[in-house]
Amino acid sequence: MKVTFVGAGPGDPELLTLKAARLLRECRCCVYAGSLVSPEVLALLPADAETHDSAGMTLEETTAVCKDASERNIDVVRLHTGDPSIYGAIREQMEELDKLGIDYDVVPGVSSFQAAAAALRAELTAPEVSQTIILTRTSGRTPMPAGQELEEMARTHATLCVFLSVHQMPKVAATLATHYGADCPVAVVYRASWPDQLIVKGTAADIAEKVAAAGIGKTAMIVAGRALEWSGAVSRLYDAGFSHGYRDAKQP
Ligand code: SAH
Repeated sequence: MKVTFVGAGPGDPELLTLKAARLLRECRCCVYAGSLVSPEVLALLPADAETHDSAGMTLEETTAVCKDASERNIDVVRLHTGDPSIYGAIREQMEELDKLGIDYDVVPGVSSFQAAAAALRAELTAPEVSQTIILTRTSGRTPMPAGQELEEMARTHATLCVFLSVHQMPKVAATLATHYGADCPVAVVYRASWPDQLIVKGTAADIAEKVAAAGIGKTAMIVAGRALEWSGAVSRLYDAGFSHGYRDAKQP
């Protein structure tokens, strides 16, 4: 018997890995994060599978589901939105399983920051502009560790993907304006890859107003940075005058 932490991806069932789709189709017991896992993904579960929405459950309760399943020798799929390693709170669950001697595995998933980039048709890295992507959030019930506040992240001028923070858009936008400039491109993608996906593009100066006007208050990814500049320098890798390993074998 085993518990598998499975990345459900951002919403579109076609963005599940083949492994995740197989595990869902074969699943007899599933604990899923109800607020974020899409109904289309849950539809892959067999009609007679046991399902438990973890949204209303404590850690003790989800652990009890796993313990009960282990006593019946039934595998459990623990379904997490996006990729389980990002804001998934999987570690505390694993510690409980360790105490019970229950084995577990992780299947990665497409994260919402990747789905947001795809929706925007954006490259998050841009030569000479940003070669670093920071996945971060603002504080909520979970405080930010000292030195990791958005303010500090913004100082790097890297491309920022900000999770769990769209409800604080005015504060986020003000920080971005200070460090990237008021005209810095910022995009907010609500429910990337869902049928009701919504994209709001703007600048640090006007994004908060646009997001409020669109009525977006949760389940959205904020992507910001100069790499998003819609026009501008194209990657030099594809420039005929720029030789590299594949084009010029003489290059070291
Ligand atoms: N493990 C997840 C993140 C969980 S934290 C992942 O890898 O994507 C929950 C936050 O993720 C939300 O507040 C939102 O910022 C983001 N998120 C999750 N699904 C999303 C989606 N389909 N579109 C946009 N943002 C999403």
